[in-house]
Amino acid sequence: MSDIATRWFVTTRHLDMHTLEGRQPWGTRHARRSEDSTTACGIQLVDWRAFWHLPFGAGTTEACVDCVRVTHGSPRLVEAAGSS
Ligand SMILES: [Zn+2]
Repeated sequence: MSDIATRWFVTTRHLDMHTLEGRQPWGTRHARRSEDSTTACGIQLVDWRAFWHLPFGAGTTEACVDCVRVTHGSPRLVEAAGSS
């Protein structure tokens, strides 16, 4: 049961116009879900390009660090609870 509304896809501000392989992201890849109006890291998605065929992954150097944190979690987000 893969609910498309809960899955993260690649979104970028611009299309790569210099590829012959069709629509490709250009620049930093952020993550979004189909229902969202912002990226995972909080940028407004007005005029952004969505790549529904590209699941957002952490394994690329173009991936937004904040989006990776939100979508994949990060040990660094665990509260360093130094209760004193
Ligand atoms: Zn981002």
